[in-house]
Amino acid sequence: MVCGIVGFVLKEKKMHDCHVHSIFSHDCKFSMDEMIEKSIEKRLKTIYFADHFELIKNSNINFEFDLKEYWKEVKKYSVKYKNNIDILCGLELGVGKEDIDLVEDKIKDVPIDMIILSIHRVDDEFFNNGAFFKGRQTLDIYEDYYNCTLDVINSFEDFDILGHIDILDNYSDYIIEKIAFEKYSYLVKIVLKRLVELNKGLEINTSIYEKNEEQILIQLKILQMYKKLGGEIITIGSDAKSPNNVGFGYDKAVEVAKKAGFEHICIYRKRLPNLIKI
Ligand SMILES: [Zn+2]
Ligand SMILES: [Zn+2]
Repeated sequence: MVCGIVGFVLKEKKMHDCHVHSIFSHDCKFSMDEMIEKSIEKRLKTIYFADHFELIKNSNINFEFDLKEYWKEVKKYSVKYKNNIDILCGLELGVGKEDIDLVEDKIKDVPIDMIILSIHRVDDEFFNNGAFFKGRQTLDIYEDYYNCTLDVINSFEDFDILGHIDILDNYSDYIIEKIAFEKYSYLVKIVLKRLVELNKGLEINTSIYEKNEEQILIQLKILQMYKKLGGEIITIGSDAKSPNNVGFGYDKAVEVAKKAGFEHICIYRKRLPNLIKI
C-alpha cells in the first residue's frame, strides 16, 4: 500500500497477534490503551487481549478478575479503535488439573472470542520461580509437564488453542542438564495427537524468540509434528506484557509456520475459527 507522499511506503497490515496482555493480568502494568496505541503504530491488523485468568484451590494466590467487566472493557476499545485495528476478546486460561471445576462455571456466560489454555504449573508449583526445576532430572521435568498438560486436556475441553506448549524452553536457564528434543519428543507427540483428535489449535508463542536459534528449531519440530498428525489450526501470539513487544517475532513465526508446511494461520471470532492465508 502506497500513501500520497512519494517514496513513503506503509507496511501492509497483516499481523494478527492473538496473545496480548494488559493491566488485567497480574504481571502486566500497561493499560489496554497503551497496548493498542503501540499495536496501531506497529501496523497490526488484529490483536486479542488474552489476559491471564487462573484459579487455584486451597491457595490465596489467584489470578482472578471480573470476566464480564473485562469483556466490556475490550468491547469498549474495539468500538473506540474500530477504524484502526480489530480488537478481540481472548482469554489465557491457566488451568491446573485439580482446579478444572473452578474455571468451568466462570467462563460459560462470557462471550469470549478465543480461549487459550495454558499450563503454568504442575501440582501448584509454578515454572517461573524455578522451584519446579530444582534438583530434578531433566526428563522427569518434561514428563511431569507434558503428562499434566495431557491430563488437563483430557478433562477440560472448553478451549480453542493450547498456549506455549514449549513453555519450559522459556525457563531453560533453570534446566541444568540439557537434553535433546528427541529424548522427550514422544511426550510432545502424545499431547499433539490428543489436540488433533479434539480439533484444537496450537499457538506459536513468539516470546521464545528472545532465546536462541536452537529453541526456535524445537518449535519448528513441534509444528512439523502437529502438521504430520493432521493438525491444521495454528495461531501466532507474542505474549506481550509491554507495548514494545506487541507483534514481536511475527514475521519469524510466519517463516517457521511455512517451513512446517502451514499455509494458513487462524483467528477466532465467537469461538469459531477463520483461516487466513500467510
Ligand atoms: Zn502463559
Ligand atoms: Zn500470556
